[in-house]
Amino acid sequence: RIVYLNGEFLPESEAKLSIFDRGFLFGDGIYEVTSVIDGKLIDSDLHMARLERSAGEIDIPLPITTQQVVEAERRLIKENNLTEGLIYLQLTRGAEDRNFLFSDDLAPTLVMFPQVKKLIGSPQEAIGLSVKSVPDQRWARRDIKSVCLLPQVMAKRIAKAEGCDEAWMIEDGFVTEGASSTAYIISADKKLITRGNSNKTLPGCTRQAALQLIEEAGLTLEERPFTLQEALDAQEAVLTSAGNFVMPVTKIDGKPVGDGKPGPLVKRLRELYLENAMRTAI
Ligand code: PLP
Repeated sequence: RIVYLNGEFLPESEAKLSIFDRGFLFGDGIYEVTSVIDGKLIDSDLHMARLERSAGEIDIPLPITTQQVVEAERRLIKENNLTEGLIYLQLTRGAEDRNFLFSDDLAPTLVMFPQVKKLIGSPQEAIGLSVKSVPDQRWARRDIKSVCLLPQVMAKRIAKAEGCDEAWMIEDGFVTEGASSTAYIISADKKLITRGNSNKTLPGCTRQAALQLIEEAGLTLEERPFTLQEALDAQEAVLTSAGNFVMPVTKIDGKPVGDGKPGPLVKRLRELYLENAMRTAI
């Protein structure tokens, strides 16, 4: 693979980082994942806006403009002949002797690399995803796309051990979100229920794009937290993320949601999302 490191395009074996990088020592950094279909970036504007916001919230200066980031991502797609998969981007505060406090003039580290992944036509699309509930053990600024992902690493491991595809995290009796996805349910009266954006969840780019299309899918939005029991009693359940787009959730803690099959509303919303995503891809 050709990867990007601080302005250079290099074979991955030649891309070297300092052991003093604060991303490594403190988890002092943020990231973005943008999916690629047909060699094009999906929802790129939304990911760039969130990148700027996350970086701003923890005061890491972006060393290049978001326009230049997109150009670099497109070059990586081209040089790696990537048709379907994702581009991972990580921005850390940079490298210096270990100290909680950092120097004001520290040069940040910017890394981007492609990963091949099948995004469309997976078996899960037809059967839906299974979810395992776990306690939400994260910090109070989940709106920042921080690289400190230990709670999610542990949550996904527990989910996997139970044969599940994703973990849904629970706080004070309500679902916050998936370990790496936004969570929704659809009620019998066709309300799409999901949390409003706040510090309690990551504002999903796929969520933002999908919510533009729900009216066309025959749904109305209700922004509020929901419980696991509500999800089990719901007509359909859904998750969204850059890697999954819009996916049906058909099983929670081993129990079926609705009739246990992907429902018509989530299928329609997925179609609409993909049509729109391809139309706006760059
Ligand atoms: N919530 C969390 C905690 C995530 O990690 C992610 C993505 O990785 C999402 C939601 C979905 O965000 P997006 O749709 O931008 O991928």
